[in-house]
Amino acid sequence: MSDAIPFLAPRADVLARRDRIVADLADLLPPECLVHEARELVPFETDAFVSYRRLPLAVALPRTTAEVAAVMRYCHRYGIPVVPRGAGTSLSGGAIPQEDAVVLGLSKMNSILEIDLPNRVAVVQAGVTNLNISESVSADGFFYAPDPSSQLACTIGGNIGMNSGGAHCLKYGVTTNNLLGVRMVLVDGTVIELGGKALDAAGYDLLGLVCGHEGQLGIVTEATVRLIAKPEGARPVLFGFESSEEAGACVADVIAAGIIPVAIEFMDKPAIEICEAFAHAGYPLDVGALLIVEVEGSEAEMDATLKDVVEIARRHGVKTVRECQSATEAALIWKGRKSAFGATGRIADYICMDGTVPLSQLSHVLKKTTEIVDHYGLRVANVFHAGDGNMHPLILFNANDPEDAARAEAAGNDILKLCVDAGGCLTGEHGVGIEKRDLMRHQYSEADLAQQMAVRAAFDPGWLLNPSKVFPLEGRPAA
Ligand SMILES: Cc1cc2nc3c(=O)[nH]c(=O)nc-3n(C[C@H](O)[C@H](O)[C@H](O)COP(=O)(O)OP(=O)(O)OC[C@H]3O[C@@H](n4cnc5c(N)ncnc54)[C@H](O)[C@@H]3O)c2cc1C
Repeated sequence: MSDAIPFLAPRADVLARRDRIVADLADLLPPECLVHEARELVPFETDAFVSYRRLPLAVALPRTTAEVAAVMRYCHRYGIPVVPRGAGTSLSGGAIPQEDAVVLGLSKMNSILEIDLPNRVAVVQAGVTNLNISESVSADGFFYAPDPSSQLACTIGGNIGMNSGGAHCLKYGVTTNNLLGVRMVLVDGTVIELGGKALDAAGYDLLGLVCGHEGQLGIVTEATVRLIAKPEGARPVLFGFESSEEAGACVADVIAAGIIPVAIEFMDKPAIEICEAFAHAGYPLDVGALLIVEVEGSEAEMDATLKDVVEIARRHGVKTVRECQSATEAALIWKGRKSAFGATGRIADYICMDGTVPLSQLSHVLKKTTEIVDHYGLRVANVFHAGDGNMHPLILFNANDPEDAARAEAAGNDILKLCVDAGGCLTGEHGVGIEKRDLMRHQYSEADLAQQMAVRAAFDPGWLLNPSKVFPLEGRPAA
């Protein structure tokens, strides 16, 4: 999208040794676990942040922690950058490779290792998909709570990399609140264990640090995650409002009143129309904004929570309240919401922002977002996790028109700055990646950034792990 080269200058010494490196990796891995022909590298050249592309040097697809450790030992010894990759659904360019890097893909490490129901945990390899965890315990009445809309494809290793969230994280928390332990291979091939099945671990909270590390502290090969008992019942309810501001103010008042539904999702008019045309979920088309509020528990608990939410919604002039009547209807309502990005992709190119704001700022930021996008002559659809204040303006543009693309990028940057200035942050769940790397200076002082980079360097002094991401390229310490 941008003409700017988004990577550190490739290491000429590494590029010159490409054939040698491929031959050496072939000694460490069987042929089906190594990709190096140019046309076979193409599927790895980008992720869901498709604006930037690079062919990697090679792709290693190990099957075990020992194979991961062997690849890391080798790359560390010869100073070769490594980009870890799960399913490549990152929306911030976190998994985009660089031409002097080996992509280390975890897709072959996709086994569920242990389901321990008495302790309510599952131990899984890093390449297991998010949905697969819930599916494998569903019959026993359990689920894994964080539910990114990409959960059919994205991996638990990627979720840990980005500290991913989802619609139902309002009540149950995001990845960091549901992760109990990891096995991780450090940059030099050393294998460490952090946390485990117990609820807390002695010493520094390194597990917390690994959540959201964007592939820069090590390669996660196994995860121990919390399993939650399914509620007795769950019911999504649609609340239609005249305007986005009213819907936003309603969300703020619901949370301020101490009511925590399982989910509060927001769609503005363009998003409602896009999702309804795709999913035929029965969303009302005569409203300016829609909230999907999901309550759960016994019938009596759901009724009680709902009564409180309806009362607050009335104060904000709610036009429509529609309770879902069947499991089929509930599934359709969620299908519409969870398909929002794909459905938007049917009508235009888009970039998805991920700023998070304090709930009291929601209405203000929604209004300003529209003004910013109008200023650049573009269109926006807002669909997001409102209860968490995690906003996802989808800025629509034409990727074949470089000027339009540059306008979209500029509008996105202005919106993220607005979120920071409103007391929020650049990313709620999609990570910094390449996309927001330069905006980190808007969020943090030089001292803040230096401290974060010092922590990174404690794990990876040579900056070999996913080096182009997270931190601005200028002002880094010498490796
Ligand atoms: C349609 C769509 C909807 C989405 N909805 C949501 C949503 O609701 N909530 C949300 O939070 N995100 C969402 N996302 C973003 C994305 O799915 C998440 O960031 C997800 O966690 C990425 O997982 P992945 O396996 O694809 O990881 P990748 O994209 O491959 O990698 C993500 C990051 O993690 C690192 N990484 C991956 N695996 C490992 C590992 N084993 N060890 C160390 N580092 C690793 C990578 O280097 C990279 O920095 C959505 C994306 C799409 C395309």
